[in-house]
Amino acid sequence: MPELPDLEVLKDNLTPRVIGRTARGVEVRSPAFLKTVQPSISELVGREVTGFSRRGKYFITGFSEELKLVLHLMRWGWIWHGSSSYAPTRATIFRLSLDDGHDLRLIEPGPQRLARGWVLREDDPGPLAELGLEPLSPEFTAEALREVLSGKRRQLKKILVDQKLIAGIGNAYADECLFVARLSPFRYAHTLTQEEVARLHRAIPDTLTWAISEIKKRLGEDLFEKEVRDFLWVHGRAGKPCRVCGTPIEEVLLGGQRTDYCPACQAVNQPSG
Ligand SMILES: [Zn+2]
Repeated sequence: MPELPDLEVLKDNLTPRVIGRTARGVEVRSPAFLKTVQPSISELVGREVTGFSRRGKYFITGFSEELKLVLHLMRWGWIWHGSSSYAPTRATIFRLSLDDGHDLRLIEPGPQRLARGWVLREDDPGPLAELGLEPLSPEFTAEALREVLSGKRRQLKKILVDQKLIAGIGNAYADECLFVARLSPFRYAHTLTQEEVARLHRAIPDTLTWAISEIKKRLGEDLFEKEVRDFLWVHGRAGKPCRVCGTPIEEVLLGGQRTDYCPACQAVNQPSG
């Protein structure tokens, strides 16, 4: 599932290909895809693509005259950019044809159709209204994080993936941020010391920024079809030795999600400091 770092790279790499192009056609190929009726998606036709942005795990395409298309790729979705002459596959959910003979397509392989789109006026937040703190924004202060954590009798892993609290982090990067912060995914948020909150506050943007640069190194100017994750510390590395201490990475299901962590580096009871 694409998370904040994947979408940041997608945004950067699509920008030189698509900005300034005008939409020549739209095609919705899955009945459940579009969550809005007005403005009509056909209103995108004739408008120029003015910019890409991201909020949480939503990918936003801005159009002239203050319209935007908000996409959520969900579990398996990805964005394809290429010649309009390629026939769309069965996995193509949505297609935006541009005036330079290229398409932007939302591709979702597999039997389920989970990806969603919203056409919104610029001042309408739509589903973005529900989102919590944006971890790479100036609003993500230690104080703001402390407020998110304070009094919550919930495990850290579940807090980090809750989009209403902190937006953009999913299963993989929650594990990574907690590893970098040396905090157990099972720790209850309300038990964190000031120093631990400060550690987590540094670890979240550090980890996400680092991941963006690692993905860029691997992709160059390309787009991904599958997330690039080979550099991660713990997520997807169950049974392999921790890159810091050599202890095998453990895996448990937490809230139905695969959670990977180092039982030594992220001990539940740690000496302070
Ligand atoms: Zn370790």
